Amino acid sequence: LAIIFTFSCQLLFFLALSVILQNVVISELTDQQKEFQQLARRFAREEIVPVAAAYDKSGEYPVPLIKKAWELGLVNGHIPQEYGGMGLSIFDSCLITEELAYGCTGVQTAMEANSLGQMPVILAGNDAQKRKYLGRMTEEPLMCAYCVTEPGAGSDVANIKTRAVKVGDEYVVNGQKMWITNGGKANWYFLLARTNPDPKCPASKAFTGFIVEADTPGLTPGRKEMNMGQRCSDTRGITFEDVRIPKENVLIGEGAGFKIAMGAFDNTRPPVAAGATGLAQRALDEATNYALERKTFGKAIADHQAVSFLLAEMAMKVELARMAYQRSAWEVDQGRRNTYYASIAKAFAGDIANQVATDAVQVFGGNGFNSEYPVEKLMRDAKIYQIYEGTAQIQRIIIAREHLGRFKK
Ligand SMILES: Cc1cc2nc3c(=O)[nH]c(=O)nc-3n(C[C@H](O)[C@H](O)[C@H](O)COP(=O)(O)OP(=O)(O)OC[C@H]3O[C@@H](n4cnc5c(N)ncnc54)[C@H](O)[C@@H]3O)c2cc1C
Repeated sequence: LAIIFTFSCQLLFFLALSVILQNVVISELTDQQKEFQQLARRFAREEIVPVAAAYDKSGEYPVPLIKKAWELGLVNGHIPQEYGGMGLSIFDSCLITEELAYGCTGVQTAMEANSLGQMPVILAGNDAQKRKYLGRMTEEPLMCAYCVTEPGAGSDVANIKTRAVKVGDEYVVNGQKMWITNGGKANWYFLLARTNPDPKCPASKAFTGFIVEADTPGLTPGRKEMNMGQRCSDTRGITFEDVRIPKENVLIGEGAGFKIAMGAFDNTRPPVAAGATGLAQRALDEATNYALERKTFGKAIADHQAVSFLLAEMAMKVELARMAYQRSAWEVDQGRRNTYYASIAKAFAGDIANQVATDAVQVFGGNGFNSEYPVEKLMRDAKIYQIYEGTAQIQRIIIAREHLGRFKK
């Protein structure tokens, strides 16, 4: 019964996905998109794959890879042209992200955290803020970070406690952030802090978004956290003790922060889904190559129907995750509200990355459990896709709200 129930749930999810994809016209990629995709693919396979296991073991931040990717134009591609960037669409950025993730999602997350940190500035910054903070990232390979989560509040963003108090022309910030990607490597941070102390004040007015220079006195990154996967990515807590931020660094105005911080996700969840898809594609490729070589009972394990069907299931999931992230990216590039599609893509790709990586370990048998082979790393790396940028559960809350909202209207 449990198996039938699980299978029915999966079938329903696939049917729901096919419904959301039915209106998409999948057209051929443009020559420019193909060029970026090929460039990122070559970089991932020639430069990232050979060193990914070593970075995973050492946990070292992959500076040479980030520098090279920056030089090739594979990082920060979405910074608008008037601020020195390439002005790539979210769809184009996703194509690059999927390829980089194929190489190593620890490296890809370190690079992708720049998009998350930059997005509030791209969406809500004024001309001077964009020129200063986005512009400098096109001049040298700098990192930035999105600084929202706290030890006591991740999913429940409205419950963050970091306070910013206006004193003259500055805001004085005190509080503790946690799990900040690029926490110890960022040149500047997007920071969300509470400016209205009244607990009855709605979230849409209680918080303010700031840009903070990393070298501001009182701002102290903690130790690098040792995580289950994506180990070369830099995750840290950050302490704010009487950190003074000039009022020029407020995004839009006092009280606008919550909407800015949450609004960024419509643009950044499609790339996160693309990253999860890249990981799943890698797991599928590794498992397929292995299944064609490994022999049991006188034939390649790929020729046992149970294994070939497992590979078929993995392939179905990868293809659908790709379509889901492309749909969500395409929607936002059309200037349409894509919250529903972004959460579907993020939730689905995050889940299937975990399923496909686990199945890849299964195909490898005992070897899959060993770090001499690539798939155990993929399984560890996959887990975070169900946690960061909104957990698997939070995505379902958003999807249900959006879905039911249409019916209630
Ligand atoms: C490696 C890593 C990198 C990260 N990078 C960043 C970053 O760059 N910037 C940043 O700001 N944050 C970052 N985060 C934080 C991340 O976004 C949060 O960890 C995540 O949102 C979950 O919050 P939490 O850890 O507080 O879990 P909680 O919110 O405490 O959730 C615990 C569990 O309860 C579930 N849950 C919570 N509320 C509900 C509900 N209403 N209904 C159903 N289930 C619920 C969750 O889904 C989860 O399973 C990162 C985290 C990690 C681990």
